[in-house]
Amino acid sequence: MQIYSFLARKENISLKKTPFFAFCHLKTLNFALFIRCDMIKDGSDFACRLLAWYHENGRILPWRGTRDPYVVWISEIILQQTRVSLGHDYFLRFVERFPDVGTLAAASEDEVLKCWQGLGYYSRARNLHAAARQVVERGGFPDTYPDIRKMKGVGDYTAAAIASFAFGLPYAVVDGNVYRVLSRFFGVEEPIDTGRGRKYFAALAQELLPETGLVAGYNQALMDFGAMQCVPKGADCGVCPLSDGCVAFRDGRVRDFPVKSRSLAVKERYLHYIYIKVGGETALFRREGNDIWKGLYEPWLMETEEACPPERLWDLEGMPVSLCRKEAVRTLLCEGVRHQLTHRTLVCDLQVVELPEKPADLGRKAVWVRAGELAGFAFPRLVAKWLERFSLT
Ligand code: SF4
Repeated sequence: MQIYSFLARKENISLKKTPFFAFCHLKTLNFALFIRCDMIKDGSDFACRLLAWYHENGRILPWRGTRDPYVVWISEIILQQTRVSLGHDYFLRFVERFPDVGTLAAASEDEVLKCWQGLGYYSRARNLHAAARQVVERGGFPDTYPDIRKMKGVGDYTAAAIASFAFGLPYAVVDGNVYRVLSRFFGVEEPIDTGRGRKYFAALAQELLPETGLVAGYNQALMDFGAMQCVPKGADCGVCPLSDGCVAFRDGRVRDFPVKSRSLAVKERYLHYIYIKVGGETALFRREGNDIWKGLYEPWLMETEEACPPERLWDLEGMPVSLCRKEAVRTLLCEGVRHQLTHRTLVCDLQVVELPEKPADLGRKAVWVRAGELAGFAFPRLVAKWLERFSLT
């Protein structure tokens, strides 16, 4: 019993007399949890079973087993919109390069973006950097939900994850996995992509939370369960520990959940890149404004409203005269390359234009660099691939 008392103290669990308990060694958290089912609110046989499942199946990941809010924060931001398999290596590289919030705050934005190159959604990296400076300015990492939520780039989900994983605070995480599991198990017909639906699920998730002490493990269990067992397609309900209470399974409607009110249309954008060469140098342009890839570098770009074949670009308004001069040597490297973003398909081409002298009519501030220096800049993944494929580095 002594060991239970110790572990209970560590996890802030009060040991009351209880008719039933389960003991789970959560290997992924590197400590043991003493789980008593009377600590779990009514109806949360759900929570008890979920924690038992997690004990057997939880993923062993490098950001688990720590309560360091910096590490939790970095991992959660990286994992937004990113598969765990891809995020894993980025996480290790990021915390090796920026081991604490002070190092991150002291770095330049270009250094942070370089470390992020290839992960996409670059506003995450810029916000991390800005928030690190906020944390240093305030003298330490915030330890309440409202203060965590004020950090730049931290929304409801990430604030709940940091508050519960790092500080054991009772906030439910609600991500795509959680929507799926809850909507199927409880047969919730409320669409998840409306304000009303989001409120409904947030309240349901909060209501299901077990008592303090189990919150971190429970939140992680629910997310892992959605990612590994109750998956979007092909959930193996026959081996699911929740199947006997699951409404969607009972009604043969697993594929109907979660309900969405609309599907987002994927639009196309047409990007025409021109890699300008003068002697051994090329011109790079930093992306500004409220658009994709802000802060990253790219060759000269013209975007058109509609599809436009590369040979017709030279006649378009906005094309610098210097690129159309007869001395310019043009080479088309690729065209019609489709690059998928979440709500956009980019249709892109790339040409090289060699000029005898640096043009003065490009209309944007160019950074002229030698080919050997390109590795020091952060590029969108598509551009980085091209530089390598066409040996432009
Ligand atoms: S029975 Fe199937 S649908 Fe229901 S919770 Fe389990 S895996 Fe998900």
